[in-house]
Amino acid sequence: MQVDLGVLLDLQEKDNAVKAAKDQLEALRPRIEKLDETLAQAEGALDAARKNAEEADGRRGELEGRIESYRLMQERRRQRLEWVRGAKEASAIMAELDLARSVLAKEEAEWIRSADQVQEAEKLVAEAEGVVAQLKEDQAAERAEIAAKTDQIEKEIGEATGIRDEAASGVKPRMLELYRRILQGRAPQALYPLRSGACGHCYTAVPLHRRQQIENGQAVEACEACGVLVYKEAE
Ligand SMILES: [Zn+2]
Repeated sequence: MQVDLGVLLDLQEKDNAVKAAKDQLEALRPRIEKLDETLAQAEGALDAARKNAEEADGRRGELEGRIESYRLMQERRRQRLEWVRGAKEASAIMAELDLARSVLAKEEAEWIRSADQVQEAEKLVAEAEGVVAQLKEDQAAERAEIAAKTDQIEKEIGEATGIRDEAASGVKPRMLELYRRILQGRAPQALYPLRSGACGHCYTAVPLHRRQQIENGQAVEACEACGVLVYKEAE
């Protein structure tokens, strides 16, 4: 097919410039992901430490409630003891008091352990908070650098896209549609030069009669194998 090869190659060059800028942006992504991942790990550890501290605090609260109710029950037994008349009943209450006292002692020992656990858990939370804060500080410079680069590249993409759109406006609509369709395929470019009688993209030989059309310099032929447009490179 006859085409204005110069206009088409110009569009391709401008498209490649847009693509190159987008690739630069894409290249920054792994660095951002690595920073995010490291931070997410530290924040995950902090969340776990906070949850652990909350649970320890809950256990301590539960024990406190239980100890309080035991104390109240003991108090009632002592009051009953003051009013009771029979010796048999009195000794029964005394036995109850003794038993409850040993239970209470066990619960109190448990409370001390649990208070220690709360303290330990809170220490771990503070440590994890420190790690997160330090990490954010350590990452700040790199994140700022990446953000500045991203801004710069996005500006470049905007400019390159404007230039590209201007180049596209010089291409006939039907040709532009074909060009766009080829780019939706696997080939990274729509146009490839003829290389030793073959398609410059997939290296499938171009039939002789088609090659002659290309050789005159202002015609392109679609590669039968990969679909890109093959043209003759200027000498
Ligand atoms: Zn091909």
